[in-house]
Amino acid sequence: MSNDILNSLLKEYEQKKLKAELDLEKKKETLYQKLPELEKIENELNHYAIQTAKNILKNEPYSLEEMKQKIEVLKYKKSCILQEANLSIHDLEPVYECPICKDTGYVMGEDYKTTMCNCLKQRLLDYSFHKSNMSGLTKENFDTFNENLFSDEVDVAKFKFNISPRENIKNIKQKCIQFVNEFDNPEYKNLLFSGNTGLR
Ligand SMILES: [Zn+2]
Repeated sequence: MSNDILNSLLKEYEQKKLKAELDLEKKKETLYQKLPELEKIENELNHYAIQTAKNILKNEPYSLEEMKQKIEVLKYKKSCILQEANLSIHDLEPVYECPICKDTGYVMGEDYKTTMCNCLKQRLLDYSFHKSNMSGLTKENFDTFNENLFSDEVDVAKFKFNISPRENIKNIKQKCIQFVNEFDNPEYKNLLFSGNTGLR
């Protein structure tokens, strides 16, 4: 898989993540006009979040405990305001297309290792699927294969075979079906298609 595909998908992810966050900002603006107290609390919570981080770095446990309590009170007030307005905490969160990776394409595991999210894996698979022409499988498959397109006349001089092209293609189809059925069998040999350039 080329890195270009991954990079362009990641750019797309960045855009949709940004859009989800900007949409939330707009939504918040409207909400805050109706509920100014909510904006005040949100600002205070942000302030304490920054302050808490600063205190952790400075290792001041007492003021940290004090701040924890203030944050709890603010959170409670916030939940009351939201409840009264018939809203939930999720109304103040961005609506990501993939809530698992929050449209970043990657997730952090319990071991703090970052792995690709299933949504991004799926996008890469979809790309390979289309690129390999397999997306036409619903129309082009063994069931819809038309052997009548091949002549049933034996022409040794032209085809260098003592069977007709139709008989030949039927044998090839049979070999292909067998190959698919035996795909998991390590003993079964691969198939090699050969021919002039442009033939498929
Ligand atoms: Zn995801």
